[in-house]
Amino acid sequence: MNAHHELAGRYGTPLYVYDLDRVAEARRSLFAALPAGFEVFYAVKANPHPEVARALREGEGPSCRAEISSVGELAVAIEAGYAAGECLYTGPGKTDGELDIAIGAGVRLFSVESLTDMRRIGATADRHGAVAQCLLRINSQWVGAPTGIRMMGRPSQFGIDAETLPALMPHLTAVRGARVVGAHFFTMSNAADESSLLAEYEEVIELAAMLTDEIGLPLELLDIGGGFASPYAAPGERATYDKLRIYLEPILDLYLPRWRSGHPRLACESGRYLVGGSGSLTCGVVNIKESRGNRYVILDAGINVIGGLSGLGRLMPMAVELEGLAGHEVTDVANLVGPLCTPGDLLGRGVTVPPLEIGDLITVPNVGAYGVSASLVSFLGRPAPAEVTVRGGDVVSVSRLAYQRGFEPVSGS
Ligand SMILES: *Cc1c(COP(=O)(O)O)cnc(C)c1O
Repeated sequence: MNAHHELAGRYGTPLYVYDLDRVAEARRSLFAALPAGFEVFYAVKANPHPEVARALREGEGPSCRAEISSVGELAVAIEAGYAAGECLYTGPGKTDGELDIAIGAGVRLFSVESLTDMRRIGATADRHGAVAQCLLRINSQWVGAPTGIRMMGRPSQFGIDAETLPALMPHLTAVRGARVVGAHFFTMSNAADESSLLAEYEEVIELAAMLTDEIGLPLELLDIGGGFASPYAAPGERATYDKLRIYLEPILDLYLPRWRSGHPRLACESGRYLVGGSGSLTCGVVNIKESRGNRYVILDAGINVIGGLSGLGRLMPMAVELEGLAGHEVTDVANLVGPLCTPGDLLGRGVTVPPLEIGDLITVPNVGAYGVSASLVSFLGRPAPAEVTVRGGDVVSVSRLAYQRGFEPVSGS
């Protein structure tokens, strides 16, 4: 019996297991792939489990900081041991109410998406007697290799259009309570390969340097974004970035010659690369049905448990693949479906599976990122799956995401 089956026997299914050693390993390999001195922001939305987030801060080697986008994620970061001052607060819809909580808690670094956003942050910081440090999130005009999810070069709710910055700069720098300290780019997720990642970074670095020269963009901190790749709900290893460091250093030397002494400080962001490979989902086979020549394996986990946004690849439906088929001489092809009352509850069509019987367990690999919290957790009112963290083979924590089932009154004014 494998470790997942043993844990499933103890805690039931569906069951997420996160291996914190693998989180630590991914953190080490990302820092090792980057030029020395790079800061890494962990995108908490990838997996807001506090033990997972903690494994990216504590332990040996350089620690991650946290990229958060709600007061809920701020609470997770703090529970996981991050100081509020280690957080970067991002997002295009920050409200006065949440800024008040974030700044009150000590968050000082913000990604700013518009002049209104900057003024809101400034006004709130000022009320708290503080000055917020702001990275301008920039939506560049450049359109690069068509890979992953594109977030620049097009109309977008994210960022400030680069071409509008010259006219906006005087207004942005005049805001009381907030100071522009640099730029934030987040151009793509899950880059197809290392060279498209490098091409994007080069454009971003060149643009940031140009904006500094030409319109006086202050540049104490430059966040060049992310894009580090990892498989999702299919076998495989996270990407390797053997050339990143050797290619990035001369680009930085060229455009930002004082970067080695921390002018500017450099940062990037990652969610899936850091945690995707740490997690798996074990589910039970509830029933097996034949319908007009098709086999349906009905699992106890559906899109309420996994893949509401298919790992933020935004591609529906899910396309689960299984690993560990090597030992089976005979395999079968089946549609893997969940228990929900919607034909949309499909985890994989025509998936190769081992011979299965009712009561068997199957394990979906590489779902440490965009798993339960990116799913339709409250749809159809089933309990959230149990989540177990392990380190060195020992269980560290067992929990279940709490969500409000039923209704509570809301008082108006
Ligand atoms: C979602 C997000 C990330 C993480 O993306 P991954 O593909 O998981 O690495 C990083 N930065 C920002 C601003 C994001 O919105």
